[in-house]
Amino acid sequence: MDKIQTKIIKVNERKPEKELVMEGVDLIRKGKLVAFPTETVYGLGANGLNQEAVKKIFMAKGRPQDNPLILHTSSIEDIRPLVKSISKEAEMIMKRFWPGPLTILFKKSSLVPEIITAGLDTVAIRMPNHPIALELIKESGVPIAAPSANTSGKPSPTSARHVIEDLHGKIHMIIDGGNTGVGLESTVLDLTQKTPMILRPGGITLEDLQKIIPNVEEDLSIVKDDKDIIPKSPGQKYRHYAPKADMIVFSGKLEDIVMEIKTKTKEYISKGKTVGIMATEETKTRYEEGLIISVGNRENMETIGHNLFNTIRQFDEEDVDIILAEGVKKSQIGTAIMNRLKKASGGKIIKV
Ligand code: AMP
Ligand code: MG
Repeated sequence: MDKIQTKIIKVNERKPEKELVMEGVDLIRKGKLVAFPTETVYGLGANGLNQEAVKKIFMAKGRPQDNPLILHTSSIEDIRPLVKSISKEAEMIMKRFWPGPLTILFKKSSLVPEIITAGLDTVAIRMPNHPIALELIKESGVPIAAPSANTSGKPSPTSARHVIEDLHGKIHMIIDGGNTGVGLESTVLDLTQKTPMILRPGGITLEDLQKIIPNVEEDLSIVKDDKDIIPKSPGQKYRHYAPKADMIVFSGKLEDIVMEIKTKTKEYISKGKTVGIMATEETKTRYEEGLIISVGNRENMETIGHNLFNTIRQFDEEDVDIILAEGVKKSQIGTAIMNRLKKASGGKIIKV
């Protein structure tokens, strides 16, 4: 691929400077790629109705063609031309959770290019809760296709620096709007089946959704730690968020997790390996050896979601051979955190 000059612009995340955002809009309209911040992770955006532009996303990321993309809109109204119909249920959920970290699957209209949905008859749509993203989409006047702005397989980017690491020279613009908030990708909710089904856990939790749709369920791949279960969301079947180092996640009682990680750390160090420990604020002083990084606070698990991908990238920068990570409870946002840890470790979750 020819090297592209990547322009990096810093934009105020609360009050985006219109003239700066318009530079991004101009590129989107011309069929080019622009990375921009959302409240979940940075997205790699292209005009979602322009097949040639969308192809460039797959090339820049090295993304498999059978992994469909999410379309981003700046209002509920804007989704009408993209879908066959909108159920009462969908309407209620959009009113409650949009803009926000929730993607909804609808039956697609003929306006949506095949490349977006990887040939499926459903389309995934989300309205992000971020002033820069909303302004960029609104002014572009088209839905913006935007997967996470990382090289496929690597941890999702939660800062412009991560995007630069992965995509500099491959895309036309990176809009730097600081660190993202949630830090994990959106929840993917399928409303096209009889039972509403969460295909990917994220910032909007099962517990949040149950308040509006009590019959909502989680796909088996979320509930079980078993690595052989194939998820219904095509993208979830791939190894994701992977550090260069091997990674093992320990789940169970916190005290047992700490003891097991201490034992394993000794073992690996005695074999001449460098060990990274993904600890938490509550446990970080319990370890005596290895490179210890606290990923966040167990009492406020949102902090763990916020820091997770950056912490994985930090271990890579330090070039450790193996990462031993503490698991968290699978409730609320903890479900999404464990889902990302499962993928990052290639399914290596050990119950202690
Ligand atoms: P990303 O934007 O990289 O976070 O990935 C988008 C996620 O949404 C992937 O896991 C996709 O497989 C999923 N997705 C997008 N469109 C569909 C669809 N039509 N049906 C099922 N999953 C979808
Ligand atoms: Mg992604």
